[in-house]
Amino acid sequence: MIIDGKVISQSLKDAMKIEVDALAEQYGRRPCLMVIIVGDNPASRSYVRGKIKATEYCGFDGHLVELPEDVSEATLLAEIDKLNNDPLVDGILVQLPLPKHISEDKVIAAISAEKDVDGFHPENVARLWLNQHCILPCTPKGIIELLDQAGVEMAGKKAVVIGRSNIVGKPVAKLLLDRNATVTIAHSRTKDLAAVCREADILVAAVGRAKMVTAEYVKPGAAVIDVGINRTEDGKLVGDVDYEAVLPVAGAITPVPGGVGPMTITMLMRNTIECFLNRMNNK
Ligand code: NDP
Repeated sequence: MIIDGKVISQSLKDAMKIEVDALAEQYGRRPCLMVIIVGDNPASRSYVRGKIKATEYCGFDGHLVELPEDVSEATLLAEIDKLNNDPLVDGILVQLPLPKHISEDKVIAAISAEKDVDGFHPENVARLWLNQHCILPCTPKGIIELLDQAGVEMAGKKAVVIGRSNIVGKPVAKLLLDRNATVTIAHSRTKDLAAVCREADILVAAVGRAKMVTAEYVKPGAAVIDVGINRTEDGKLVGDVDYEAVLPVAGAITPVPGGVGPMTITMLMRNTIECFLNRMNNK
């Protein structure tokens, strides 16, 4: 079974569009997402375009704040502070990576935790690990949604996550644990990675190495979630999984593009609605 992130994403966005119209009626305004981009990095520009397009599609308010590559850290922090204090702004996102002269840690911590639609703020990260109410990071949240939508049972299953980054590997592992999977986190120092992965009923690859997961990594019938985004020499977008080789072995698999990627943006929209509702109901 191919888990089509594009189709799932579209139906979730269609439902949110209707929900947002109803929220506008009920609360007298629409959820508002502000996206900040610094500089002209083409990949960041392309991600931001996708986010703004989805924002418009779902009927949110908000817009893009564009700052030049050489903007000072102080100016960026002041911009964030302004948005933190704006009662009509529900979500703030600063597109990463930032230029070297700006501390990403400082910027992430400067965004008010209640408007942190990316779920990267230390308070949200801590709350996730403490099982407290929090804003979940978008890619891990999208992966769990994909597994749910594909009808993949997580409870009691063995899951292996390759990668231990703060934005993907570790939070995905935590969310799988919360769904009662038994989770192994693998990384660059894991011995005999293929044998570790072959144990998995659910295999999540979040490495950033083209086609590294071959058929010998996959237990027949396993669900394989490919988070990786890599470019081949001829410019083609591929994941961490050798899709053609793994497709006949896997029970379910996400393609790249069209798997986890669209879900990340859709979960950003979901998080914006959740931030809006938290703020409106805490008034
Ligand atoms: P990082 O570079 O932060 O982490 C990569 C992880 O892979 C590290 O934990 C590293 O191990 C591990 N790793 C590297 N080489 C190997 C190896 N040979 N064997 C086993 N493990 C290895 O990346 P991110 O987590 O930020 O992103 C991972 C991928 O997901 C990237 O391709 C990124 O572009 C993509 N991505 C996709 C998103 C989407 O929406 N689809 C969103 C975010 C990311 P160690 O810790 O030991 O160094």
